[in-house]
Amino acid sequence: MTGSPPPAPSRVAVVTGGSRGIGRGIVAELAAIGYSVAINYREDHAAAEACRREAEARGAPTASTFRADVAGLADGRRLLGEVLARFGRIDLWVNNAGVAPAARLDLLEATPESWDRVLGTNLRGPFFLTQAVASELIRLREGGIVPDPQVVFITSVSSAFASVNRADYCVAKAGLSMVAQLFAARLAPHGIRVYEVRPGIIDTDMTRPVHDAYSERLAAGLAPIRRWGTPEDVGRAVAALAAGSLGYSTGEVIHVDGGMHLRTL
Ligand code: NAP
Repeated sequence: MTGSPPPAPSRVAVVTGGSRGIGRGIVAELAAIGYSVAINYREDHAAAEACRREAEARGAPTASTFRADVAGLADGRRLLGEVLARFGRIDLWVNNAGVAPAARLDLLEATPESWDRVLGTNLRGPFFLTQAVASELIRLREGGIVPDPQVVFITSVSSAFASVNRADYCVAKAGLSMVAQLFAARLAPHGIRVYEVRPGIIDTDMTRPVHDAYSERLAAGLAPIRRWGTPEDVGRAVAALAAGSLGYSTGEVIHVDGGMHLRTL
């Protein structure tokens, strides 16, 4: 045989809700360290395609978009199947897709409709999707196809901060933090590491309705680092995990919040 050996297949990351905001930042930073990326979105196809082009420009060997609603369990399983059919491997699964409540309602006015919508997308969907993903990651690792699979959950400071005007969101994120711990414990014997990345106040479409109020509060010291977080801040944290340097750590919470979680006196 002559010539150079074929290049090693690139690692593959799946980012749910990867088309906009934090997900888009994660996709771009993973692309920059050489991951091929599967970009999931729910409805904004144009945003997903723009993200795909950006990923290719940042260095992703391959980038593809996948429409699926992660709140729907069958849709989630279809997403998983389509990614595997396209790429044949998954090295990193990032559960990022999430929604804010349509309206911020006081705890005493909270509605079951908003509860079901927010917990369906932010907790129930990712739990059962990760259950299905976990079985595939075990198979891929035991088959020698993926040496070092990882799962990341994007939670929020709302996992630990009580906001009485969006109980559903706080409960969903607190639950998702436990989901991350559960999968970390369950998958460690299979050589699969699981992390929680917990962002603070990040400048995206989700925070646009409260942008002015949070700008004032950040300037006044809401977080010790007195600025908005960016999708790139979160993306770089995920990329640091994806580089694989935390090989003897699992279940860690990586705060990306400008120090907002610190208790100060
Ligand atoms: P965003 O700007 O509103 O973007 C949301 C992304 O998720 C979009 O790509 C959207 O796709 C997708 N998405 C929403 N529902 C989906 C579903 N059911 N199935 C598949 N994709 C879905 O939100 P973001 O601020 O980037 O937030 C991303 C994650 O970070 C969320 O989990 C959020 O809770 C969390 N977070 C955000 C902040 C913050 O300050 N922004 C802070 C902490 C944590 P379409 O456009 O196609 O709908």
